[in-house]
Amino acid sequence: MKSFSRTTKEELAFLEKDKDCCALSELLGLMVFAGSFSNNSIKIQTENDCIAIRFQGLFNELFDYYIPISIENNSYILIIDKLDIILKIYSLLRIIGNTPSIPYEYLKKDCCKSSFLRGTFLASGIIMDPRKNYNLEFVLKNEALALNLKGFLESLGFLPKITKRKKYTVIYMKSNGMISDFLGYIKAINALNTFSDVVIQKEFTNNFNRSSNLDIANTDKIYVASSEHIKAIMELDESVGLDTLPEELREIAFLRIENPELSLTELGKLCIPPITKSGVNHRLKKIIKLAERG
Ligand SMILES: [Zn+2]
Repeated sequence: MKSFSRTTKEELAFLEKDKDCCALSELLGLMVFAGSFSNNSIKIQTENDCIAIRFQGLFNELFDYYIPISIENNSYILIIDKLDIILKIYSLLRIIGNTPSIPYEYLKKDCCKSSFLRGTFLASGIIMDPRKNYNLEFVLKNEALALNLKGFLESLGFLPKITKRKKYTVIYMKSNGMISDFLGYIKAINALNTFSDVVIQKEFTNNFNRSSNLDIANTDKIYVASSEHIKAIMELDESVGLDTLPEELREIAFLRIENPELSLTELGKLCIPPITKSGVNHRLKKIIKLAERG
């Protein structure tokens, strides 16, 4: 099965090309974070074929220059060795001692900042499957560049953290809200939808488990009863519509749907005026009966 990172990157690599300014920004992001620079060549290396093809396509469009892709130890390599093109790129990127930095002068517009960050993520980002863990990170060999990226992310309102992992510097985010914002910002819309669905499911389960000090057996009982109620409410809504119910039944129906994790006693406390556990039970039984009658 493809990793979540791989699926996210494929989605981005197949996005329609945007305006020229943004195409250039994305290309610069890819080069800064996946490139190695020397005086007579620029080498782009990636483990993902889609990214190699994306780079090749963008480069061809903007510089009218076709770079062949070669494969070496499971990596896809693109080498630019034409002097006038190298000079053009050196003038776009500020490269000091073979290390590039973020070219802020080309990233004034929001559209271009977003595209540059997309290129950065394609080149060096990893996102974990949200079902396992919330984590999005950039793993970089060059510490100065890592700090540069941290500053750039901060300028966009993200608050990443930084750590060392062997010879690498890692910039990472663990907050699900921040990761969602990031995915939206770089236009990974399908990945964002999947990510948000998992967050909602997890929160539902957490609330459920946190809901009371009841033991697990008891929680399971609530869950079974609650799903039975919700099923009946949904059926009723489809057949006659919840609006046709008397006020007291409609109130408990809505409360049940909004709070599937609560016990009957807790639901009773939310009614206006509050009612007892047996009062709640009585009303929900009525709803089930009505639903059965159809
Ligand atoms: Zn732009």
